[in-house]
Amino acid sequence: MPALRRLINGSSADDGVRKTKIVCTLGPAVDSPEGIDALIAAGMNVARINCSHGDWETRARWIDWVRGASERRKAHVAILLDLQGPKFRLGDFIGKEEIEVAMGQRITVGTGDGQLPIEQKEILDALEPGRKILIGDGDIIFRVAERDKKDIVVTALSDGTMRSRQGITVVGVSFRTPAATPKDLEDLAVGAQKDVDYVAISYVKSAADVALVVKAAKKHDPELKVIAKIEMKDAVQDIDAILAASDGIMVARGDLGLQIAIEEVPLVQKKIIALCRLAGKPVITATQMMESMVHNPRPTRAETTDIANAIMDGTDAIMLSEETAVGSYPVAAVTYMDKIAGKTEKSGLFAQAIAAKALDGISDATEAMAQAAVDISAGLKCKHILTFSTSGFTARMISKHKPKAIVLCATYKEKTARRTSLFWGVQPLLTERFGATEEMIKTGFAAAIASGDFKEGDIVVVTAGLPVGNPGATNFVTLLKVTGSEQS
Ligand code: PEP
Repeated sequence: MPALRRLINGSSADDGVRKTKIVCTLGPAVDSPEGIDALIAAGMNVARINCSHGDWETRARWIDWVRGASERRKAHVAILLDLQGPKFRLGDFIGKEEIEVAMGQRITVGTGDGQLPIEQKEILDALEPGRKILIGDGDIIFRVAERDKKDIVVTALSDGTMRSRQGITVVGVSFRTPAATPKDLEDLAVGAQKDVDYVAISYVKSAADVALVVKAAKKHDPELKVIAKIEMKDAVQDIDAILAASDGIMVARGDLGLQIAIEEVPLVQKKIIALCRLAGKPVITATQMMESMVHNPRPTRAETTDIANAIMDGTDAIMLSEETAVGSYPVAAVTYMDKIAGKTEKSGLFAQAIAAKALDGISDATEAMAQAAVDISAGLKCKHILTFSTSGFTARMISKHKPKAIVLCATYKEKTARRTSLFWGVQPLLTERFGATEEMIKTGFAAAIASGDFKEGDIVVVTAGLPVGNPGATNFVTLLKVTGSEQS
């Protein structure tokens, strides 16, 4: 008999449930059962494992620790496996890990001592005089000074330190790269075996890239969901088709800020979040949200404002990267995010911002039912909308309307409970297996009463796609009152 479970992580909001979800990247800073447990206690809803670093021995133990701590805490934490993707990197420096560069210094591209180790032919071909090359996160910028048949010489436009194998970006050049490297496909296979819930693909350029990874993912696990990271100029341009091909989006602001003009990043973020909301697909706003907390115990005012603004834009989730992976204050970073999110989403300003972005036009029956459930819950000030789902689809459709009510997603599938942890405002509720409508409602109410979510006298909006188990059609809305241990 499956245990009845209630999402307990994320509790700073007045009604005890934070609606914006928190994604934390795992890393050495939390590499212990206690470290991961502390993130869950502080409010982590999704654990991100970045395949750009580490090995499968480490990743496997993190997955086991996340699952174990979730079980103990009766939380439903999803696991997001972030594939490295086809990133161009520097080669190794001869005999050292780092090289100091001074502004104005001229360096020849090559693999010899003191040279800039770039070996990929595509990059070398693109290095025409005047082109800019960014190393890492733009820590050092070179401009190609001259090239002849033998040599390419670059000039440093800034001082800095380069490390072996740092990423390389050639500004304004789009390379033909595969959607997934052999390493990505291998990581995908192992991740699927470990039953991860989401896989994120890096450096996506087109819907065809997404389709290829979706096909590979479904071969391993038909329920594995694919998140496209938007970080390339081509992806921004092809966003509608990419969104249609994927199960969700990550606004990967780190690389995006290298690939497009940095002043365009906020506008692209807002546009993508609006499109995702319209499509009813989850969107994660990522990178540098609390960057200063890698070293400091408190965020900057700009960071707290960035988080609040992303929430006002309508993001489903906010993400921590180095802050939780290698930072000195991983738990404090989650706690601050939790507090800022709880405060922001409770504010009148948030309600106004969301109302101003009302989703016009009802396109189908599901849309109409979801809208009706949200309107009824608002009119009657219901604390909960109870949905029943095997796939999470109905919950996603309601979440899209950002109701004030908590969306309790009753499901008997642990995997669905974990997956819906990413959706804004959705609180998974694991139940006994249910069948026909009456039994389904009884089971859901019993679980919500047992978990403490429902109190006697509560009026609950109940919605589902019937028959349950046939995702894609929300066609049932009703209003029920909690009486004792039953509904009426
Ligand atoms: C980013 O570039 O913002 C990002 C999330 O990608 P990664 O950290 O995997 O490079």
